Amino acid sequence: MANSTPRLSALYGGTFDPIHYGHLKPVEALAKQVRLHQVTIMPNNVPPHRPQPLASSQQRKKMVELAIAGNPLFRLDDRELQRETPSYTVETLEQLRAEIGAEQPLAFIVGQDSLLSLQRWHRWETLLTLCHLLVCQRPGYSLSMNTSEEQRWLDAHQTSSVEALHAQPAGKIYLAQTPMYDISATTIRQRLEQHLACDDLLPPAVAEFIRQHHLYG
Ligand code: ATP
Repeated sequence: MANSTPRLSALYGGTFDPIHYGHLKPVEALAKQVRLHQVTIMPNNVPPHRPQPLASSQQRKKMVELAIAGNPLFRLDDRELQRETPSYTVETLEQLRAEIGAEQPLAFIVGQDSLLSLQRWHRWETLLTLCHLLVCQRPGYSLSMNTSEEQRWLDAHQTSSVEALHAQPAGKIYLAQTPMYDISATTIRQRLEQHLACDDLLPPAVAEFIRQHHLYG
């Protein structure tokens, strides 16, 4: 008999230029903690006024595919890359919500740095009407918000209950206890430019792809 209980799945957006263990390992731990059924990695286009990714959209997509090959927790969704223009996260979430219906629990995963800047995102107040926020720890970033108003917003929505994430479709913020990986794509790009080894910072197949295509060097 089919299991009709809605299952909690999550979306994980980013530039992934390139994808690395700081993206993957905390999310694998998070998935166990909160019983995530699936994590959809969604690489995004970068708005023209921001520094552009060094790898092409197709290369960033390919690196995600290589990184998650054989790991059933993850899947790739390239819908944002297929568009000509950058998409707002809130609009992508609205699209997904329309696809899965109002009742299915849905989460969006961010690192602590992204939580701290979230209130600068387009229509950020709408995000929690569409999804929960699952926050991974990141070395060097505080667990408290920048202003007291932001802190009040966090306090009003924060939960430590995994059950609450499963019981309602959206609206909660969960600060996860995830392992810290002091890795950023920026550091990897800089190290590769200086011909320094990065093999312990990202999956071997991604490192090999970077070598083969002479990326970042
Ligand atoms: P860049 O250095 O190019 O800015 P990045 O390594 O921060 O890139 P992004 O693709 O911008 O990676 O990040 C996508 C998401 O992954 C964001 O929510 C970010 O907070 C999170 N993230 C990236 N690196 C880590 C890390 N080491 N630990 C926890 N979260 C991370």
